[in-house]
Amino acid sequence: MARELLTARLAQKQCISESSQCYRFEFVIDELDSFPFTPGQFISAVADDANGKQQTRAYSLASAPEGNRFELCVNRVEEGFFSNHLADLPDLPIGATIQIHGPHGHFVLREPVTDSILVATGTGIAPMRGFTQWLFPPEDGPAAGPDRSQGKQIWLVYGTRQESELYFREEFEALAQRVPNFHYLPTLSRAPQSWAGLRGYVQDHVAGIVEQRAAQLGQTLPLPAPDPAIPPAELRFDVNAYVCGLNNMVMAVRERLAGYGWHRKQIIFERYD
Ligand SMILES: Cc1cc2nc3c(=O)[nH]c(=O)nc-3n(C[C@H](O)[C@H](O)[C@H](O)COP(=O)(O)OP(=O)(O)OC[C@H]3O[C@@H](n4cnc5c(N)ncnc54)[C@H](O)[C@@H]3O)c2cc1C
Repeated sequence: MARELLTARLAQKQCISESSQCYRFEFVIDELDSFPFTPGQFISAVADDANGKQQTRAYSLASAPEGNRFELCVNRVEEGFFSNHLADLPDLPIGATIQIHGPHGHFVLREPVTDSILVATGTGIAPMRGFTQWLFPPEDGPAAGPDRSQGKQIWLVYGTRQESELYFREEFEALAQRVPNFHYLPTLSRAPQSWAGLRGYVQDHVAGIVEQRAAQLGQTLPLPAPDPAIPPAELRFDVNAYVCGLNNMVMAVRERLAGYGWHRKQIIFERYD
C-alpha cells in the first residue's frame, strides 16, 4: 500500500558544524495545522535519484512536537545520496520542499518517566534533543510548558571525535545550567591536550553513571535478574537507557549495561546503520 506523502517546506537551514558538514533543518508542513509525533520518532524522506529511482531514508525528528513544524539534524555522508540532497538545499529558499511520510518508530521515552541515561554519538543526538525539549520545555515563548521530568535524573552522554562536532552544545549547556536534574556529559574520542572535559568512549562514562548511582542507592552490581514470573510487558524499572547512533556504539553500550545485570527491556535503542 502506498504511504501518504506529505510536502515539507524548508523554513530554516543552519550549518551547525563545518568540520563534519552537519546541518539543522527546520521544516513546515503547510497542508497540516499540526504534525503530531512522539519525541524520538523519525520521518522517512523520499526523493528520486539521478536514475529516476525512488530513494527513501529515515531521519530522526530533532525537536519536540510544535504545531506543524519539525526539525532534523543531518550530516553529509561521503558519496551518500540523500544526505547530500538535503545539505544542498539552498539557504532559506521560498518553496524548497521535500516529500516525507511518518512519523514512525518506537524509540520513545517510556512513561512514567524514570531516571534516564541518554547516550548518543554524532547525529544520534537528534532524538535526544527531542526528548530534552519535551522533558524540559522553555519557560517562555511558543514552546513554553510545564517540566515533564518529574524530578527524575536525566544524563546525556554525548560522544564525538572533536569539539567542533558537539552539535547543539550551547543548548545543552544552557539546559544543564537551568535545571538541576539534567546532566550534560560530552566526551571526545580525539581530544586535544587543551580539552578539559571528558575523554574516550561513551560506554565508559555510562558505566561511571551506573556505578555511582548504584552506590548512592545502596544497590549491589550486577543487579539480580527480575522475577521470571513477571511477564516482560509488565516489567518496570527505576532507570532506563536510550541509545542512538551507529551500530558499533549501540552494541558496546548494550554489552556494558548487560554486564551490570540490566534487563534488555531497560535499554531502548535506535541504530542508524
Ligand atoms: C531510524 C533512523 C534514523 C536516522 N536518523 C538520522 C538523523 O537524524 N540524521 C542523520 O544524519 N542520519 C540519520 N539516519 C541515517 C540516514 O537514514 C541515512 O542512512 C544517511 O543520511 C545516509 O544516507 P545517504 O543517502 O546520504 O547515503 P547512502 O547513499 O545511503 O550511502 C552512501 C554510503 O555511506 C554509508 N553510510 C550510510 N549511512 C551512513 C551513516 N549514517 N554514517 C556513515 N556512513 C553511512 C553507506 O554504507 C554507503 O556506503 C537515520 C537512520 C535510521 C535507520
